[in-house]
Amino acid sequence: MRMVIRLLVSVCMMCFVIMVGCQYDASQGEIEQVSQYAEKWKEEEREKEQSLDKEEHYEKHSLETEEIENNAEKQYMINQTNWLVEPIGDASDQVVLLTIDDAPEQYSVKMAEILKELNVGAIFFVNGHFLQTEEDREKLRKIHELGFEIGNHTMTHPNLSQLSPEEQKNEIVELNLLIEEIINERPRFFRAPYGVNTDTSNQVVEDEGMQAMNWTYGYDWEKEYQEADSLAEIMVHSPLLTKGANLLMHDRKWTKEALAKIVLGLKEQGYDIVHPNMIKSR
Ligand SMILES: [Zn+2]
Repeated sequence: MRMVIRLLVSVCMMCFVIMVGCQYDASQGEIEQVSQYAEKWKEEEREKEQSLDKEEHYEKHSLETEEIENNAEKQYMINQTNWLVEPIGDASDQVVLLTIDDAPEQYSVKMAEILKELNVGAIFFVNGHFLQTEEDREKLRKIHELGFEIGNHTMTHPNLSQLSPEEQKNEIVELNLLIEEIINERPRFFRAPYGVNTDTSNQVVEDEGMQAMNWTYGYDWEKEYQEADSLAEIMVHSPLLTKGANLLMHDRKWTKEALAKIVLGLKEQGYDIVHPNMIKSR
């Protein structure tokens, strides 16, 4: 687009210079007049070039900044026995992690937009059966573009302990390939449906260079919390809310409605929401 505009401007300026040139006989003064216009035009062109260079520089710079953010220093890790988020060095331990499972079914994009608005990160654990149409895939792209981490939650959400080793492997690896095809990035984290990890799935997760994580608490699947107010209340005042808590939520209407309240409530309780890109995988 920029090139087209530059070309049009150049053509117009050239016509102008030629028109001005034609109105004068070829006496010395008139030639000078024409060459002054030409000089002015060249000067303007040079200035435009320079400002374009600057824009390109800024674009490049912001890309570099983004890369640095993606490669943010890993200051946390997931405890593999209790699934708490733990600081590696002297990072604050007053943090919690937000995770959204069974995405991107219906409400995930909206949930991502709400979280983005609140300027907090989260992991969206996605399933292959929610990535079958181009519309579904667009949702995943959108969530990823908003800056959220995409995790693997298996192709079809089975209980892995009821599958053969081969089937378990396919559930995990096929989804990694599918996610990579859509967003050009492989998931770093794996969450087993129902929290059921097996020896096979642990091995596959390791072979795939991923990190497994269950969660420490969540309520949005329990009957009494399938409503925004009661859900927000329990998520923020749960006795399980501790340093490093790993919060499980789902792509559900009431969770979407409670989400902003949950985030603000957690902050009021003195917790920061840890950005997933600060969590070490493998
Ligand atoms: Zn699930």
